[in-house]
Amino acid sequence: MRYFACDCQDDVALFFENTECLCCHRPVGWCHDTQSLLVFDLNEEGEYYNQDRLYVPCANRKESVCNGMIPAELATRANSLCFSCHFNDNIPSLAVEGHRELWANLEAAKRRLIFTLSELKLPLPDKQQSPEGLSFHFLADGDVSDHFNTPLTHVSAVFTGHAQGDITINLAEADDVARHRMRVDMGEQYRTLLGHFRHEVGHFYWDWLVKPNELLLAEFEQHFGDPNLSYKDALEAHYQRDQNDLSWQPRFISAYASMHPWEDWAETFAHYLHITDTLETAREWQMIALSEYDGLILPQDKTGESDPDALFKCWIRLSVKLNALNRSMGVADAYPFVMTPEVVEKLKFVHKVVVGL
Ligand SMILES: [Zn+2]
Ligand SMILES: [Zn+2]
Ligand SMILES: [Zn+2]
Repeated sequence: MRYFACDCQDDVALFFENTECLCCHRPVGWCHDTQSLLVFDLNEEGEYYNQDRLYVPCANRKESVCNGMIPAELATRANSLCFSCHFNDNIPSLAVEGHRELWANLEAAKRRLIFTLSELKLPLPDKQQSPEGLSFHFLADGDVSDHFNTPLTHVSAVFTGHAQGDITINLAEADDVARHRMRVDMGEQYRTLLGHFRHEVGHFYWDWLVKPNELLLAEFEQHFGDPNLSYKDALEAHYQRDQNDLSWQPRFISAYASMHPWEDWAETFAHYLHITDTLETAREWQMIALSEYDGLILPQDKTGESDPDALFKCWIRLSVKLNALNRSMGVADAYPFVMTPEVVEKLKFVHKVVVGL
């Protein structure tokens, strides 16, 4: 993520999620079209201006789930939704108490996802452009009244997943207690909304970029194995496994990645986004000097080639520092994963797919 600041005083940082500057209280919003976090002045009609240009808020801004802003002359999309919100096909029922807050958590994570994908210049087709284009479905389990007490019971359940560009996220994943309980039940080290989005969109890019490309598909098989293995059998075996069996560790980034080549790819793709986004944040906040890593250029940068060896070496060092910082605050490790040489080779393949476009 980039560093943003308000001009009201020296170095007043703004976060990507801000809706106003906490110092001067002017409205703030993310504009996908200009790729900038803008601070606005209101004219006498209450319209939003930035440097003499007129903007309109995303229709979901009044629902308090989005800080998106659209240049007025471009606000012709249906219902004036911002770029991130226009991918939504299903949102949760707002008649149910608490749903709006959970939906807001989902939108915040989705905006970060779309930001990183845009920076990496990955294609972002929607359903108007292709039947296999991206769309999002935020759905709640059938028994909503019980939902947050016994979450993710899979009784008339919504399964988080991806199919033909449609990404479905169970609303319970946006509830901190429900998600934490699920993480413990599944024996996972890390479970976040942003992680879900980054994983599921990995499946989308496998379909979109790897599957149709014979050369990439052959290279994929060398690193990840045969994608045509029975997914159903793999799923059953995974959920029956002994959680204390750590024999997957030398070859996979997570236990879930060891389930099937598709999941290995999606997990590795998610980590690629974790790594590239967090490295950018660290650089933008002047927490690391990339010049110390052979003049490392990030894949998001507009010029130059990003060297994957330097990229992952830099990440391994930074992730240890991140964990040290977290431990000083008495919270869990930010990056509770071990990057083995085999995992790094898989990450290099993801890098090749991403930058090779
Ligand atoms: Zn300000
Ligand atoms: Zn929006
Ligand atoms: Zn998956």
